[in-house]
Amino acid sequence: MFDHPSFDQHEDVHQFFDAKSGLRCLIAIHSTVLGPSAGGTRMWNYASGAEMLNDALRLSRGMSYKNAMAGIPFGGGKAVIWGNSRRDKSEAMFEALGRAVESLQGRYFTAEDVGIDTADIQIAARQTGYAAGLTNGASASGDPSPLTARGVFLGLREAAMRAFGTDDLSNRTVAVQGVGSVGGYVCQHLAEAGARLIISDIDGRALEEVSARDGATIVAPDEIYDVDADIFSPNALGAIINESTLPRLRAKVIAGGANNQLSDPEMGARVRDAGILYAPDYVINGGGIINVAAEILGSYSLDWVYNKIDTMVETLGRVMDEAISSGLPTSQVADRMAQKRLAKAAEGA
Ligand code: NAD
Repeated sequence: MFDHPSFDQHEDVHQFFDAKSGLRCLIAIHSTVLGPSAGGTRMWNYASGAEMLNDALRLSRGMSYKNAMAGIPFGGGKAVIWGNSRRDKSEAMFEALGRAVESLQGRYFTAEDVGIDTADIQIAARQTGYAAGLTNGASASGDPSPLTARGVFLGLREAAMRAFGTDDLSNRTVAVQGVGSVGGYVCQHLAEAGARLIISDIDGRALEEVSARDGATIVAPDEIYDVDADIFSPNALGAIINESTLPRLRAKVIAGGANNQLSDPEMGARVRDAGILYAPDYVINGGGIINVAAEILGSYSLDWVYNKIDTMVETLGRVMDEAISSGLPTSQVADRMAQKRLAKAAEGA
């Protein structure tokens, strides 16, 4: 663990195996200096245990940075389950997940992530008081994706302001990759703002729905990188800004909700060199975790969530301004800001 390439001073990493349900789960806690760790549970059919561990470590560190930049009193943690989310789920599995989370006695709060929906977390919550993103209960905050999309849309406008000198989107074309939960809501905001939309997905039904509602033009999944768009908004997969896609992009702004958009940290400088303004993913997509935080803190209020999202978008603006004036990549400026916030909290502690 201690010489693992993705080990970055993680406080603790827990392994859970439940023979009865087949649950294979890791919970990685990167940092609790800002507060108890919080981050969703991901279910993925990993190729190996090594790949699973790597994902847990990277994602939990990512949550420390995301939560720090969102200005919420939570540290970074993440649970990953090894399995096929279409085939392997059971009530017993999510009850076992709940017991695993409960055993950490509040050092980690869980919620939904890729492969996990509100119903799964609702089952886990039978066994633990440390689950959020629930649909039932006094403070239940439900599906976080509309709030993630709100932050992405407001952040995208901030980026447009800096790249084009105006945040008026009525003359802009936006290429949206992925029109699932987050991407679908992002399209709705963009259409309301008058933007022209070009969309791609591998789910035909989602494409038809968004196209009919928002008048979007559909292109094949691989064509989305080549279209003539002002803004590229990735809302599906990670690592989609890479050696082969970057030279194809014609957009001047990248602003979307997907996690881990850059294939590696060096891509930040490559994106800058290509004259593209990149809104760092973990800064722009914090709306969902802010919504979850409101639930964990109790007495959920949408006003509080909207205010926090506005502050998060201001932080994104500061990151972009500092990057523009210093010439550093936005990704590097964001990392430094997040690290500074964590170091300051550690000093205080
Ligand atoms: P989702 O599963 O609802 O949507 C993802 C969409 O991407 C699906 O419609 C899927 O068919 C599509 N897709 C998959 N492969 C594709 C491809 N090759 N090309 C185009 N589309 C493809 O998931 P989501 O909750 O909307 O999350 C989307 C991204 O945003 C993920 O990276 C997730 O980690 C991130 N994110 C989500 C939230 C949230 O609140 N849901 C918060 C922060 C970050």
